[in-house]
Amino acid sequence: MTRSKQTNLVHGGTKRSQWNEVSEALFLTQGFVYDTAEAAEQRFVKTGPDEYIYARYGNPTVAMFEERMALLEGTEDGFACASGMAAVNGALVSMLRAGDHIVSARALFGSCLYILEEVLTRYGVEVTFVDGEDLDQWRKAVRADTKAVFFESMSNPTLELVDIESVAEIAHAVGAKVVVDNVFSTPVYSKAVEQGADIVVYSTTKHVDGQGRCLGGVILGTREHIRGVVEPYMKHTGGSMSPFNAWVQLKGLETVGLRVRAQTAGALAIAEALEGHPKLSQVVYPGLVSHPQHDLAMRQLGAGGTMVALEVKGGKEAAFRFLNGLEIAVISNNLGDAKSIATHPATTTHQRLKPEQRASLGISDGWIRFSVGIEEPQDLIDDLLQALDAV
Ligand SMILES: *Cc1c(COP(=O)(O)O)cnc(C)c1O
Repeated sequence: MTRSKQTNLVHGGTKRSQWNEVSEALFLTQGFVYDTAEAAEQRFVKTGPDEYIYARYGNPTVAMFEERMALLEGTEDGFACASGMAAVNGALVSMLRAGDHIVSARALFGSCLYILEEVLTRYGVEVTFVDGEDLDQWRKAVRADTKAVFFESMSNPTLELVDIESVAEIAHAVGAKVVVDNVFSTPVYSKAVEQGADIVVYSTTKHVDGQGRCLGGVILGTREHIRGVVEPYMKHTGGSMSPFNAWVQLKGLETVGLRVRAQTAGALAIAEALEGHPKLSQVVYPGLVSHPQHDLAMRQLGAGGTMVALEVKGGKEAAFRFLNGLEIAVISNNLGDAKSIATHPATTTHQRLKPEQRASLGISDGWIRFSVGIEEPQDLIDDLLQALDAV
């Protein structure tokens, strides 16, 4: 029987212990006992399915999380990581070596940019940056020795989309692997693998946990790649997910579909209510018909997602007055949470960038990133409108 994503989110990957518990068990154990010395020796020679050695290598709760994530994304396998950044670093470093070339979109989360600009180059990987939405730049940048392309399918915090299908065609023509950081698109709406992505990476800290509790990440791809390339790197370098975090996020997966769809409905209602507001120079939301990539968003995701960007007229001072006026939404820097979160990227998440870099990415001093939660949308609209009155 075929099962839909939503059903897999509730049941996928579940393995019951001898007690037949309903809720997935938390195996809070670092290690595993062998019946005999010979069994221990054998386990190290060849670790079979449902056999474990040490939690850095694998753990039953973590394995359930990996399998449920892979079912959701439609990949053969996945490796769960300590954080989204452990996943991005692991996905890239595990497959690249000195002398390789990688092409990356310029609009990246600050820590992703650090890995591309500082880490990979330090070990002799050549990095070329392009404007992610400009296909000509991708075409010109790829070469015969390009091993991978990397991009955030929807950029943080400007909500620009990269056309996965078109970039994958360009990359695959030179034999490069397509690595997608898909956080803003969410695993609920993602069809990245169908569209040509080879490796899909998530910070599961965001929508998957979705309740602000623990960090997590996952690298998804073919079994050969995950077990042959990613796992050896991750298990020996220490970026594996803890069983406790896997358990929290496994339970998060049960409701992620409901939450993300509710958050998306709220985001559209908010974007529609605020568009054209006299205190705002822009309301950016891929679900709005006015968004320059609205058609691509509908084709690629079928929805606008859970994030709305607002540009307050009057720069930093006006943006701060707006943030300080919010009564329901909180000021923080996480996203994808059940609670609505407002962020001023220029002074927080993207503070590390030089002012010229921020300007070239379109991150102005009036820019607000608004992660829509699951509160009643009308309450959020009222909150945003009264905070704008205060500007
Ligand atoms: C948050 C985020 C990350 C990093 O995830 P952590 O879990 O915080 O390590 C990477 N990429 C994107 C697009 C993100 O939003």
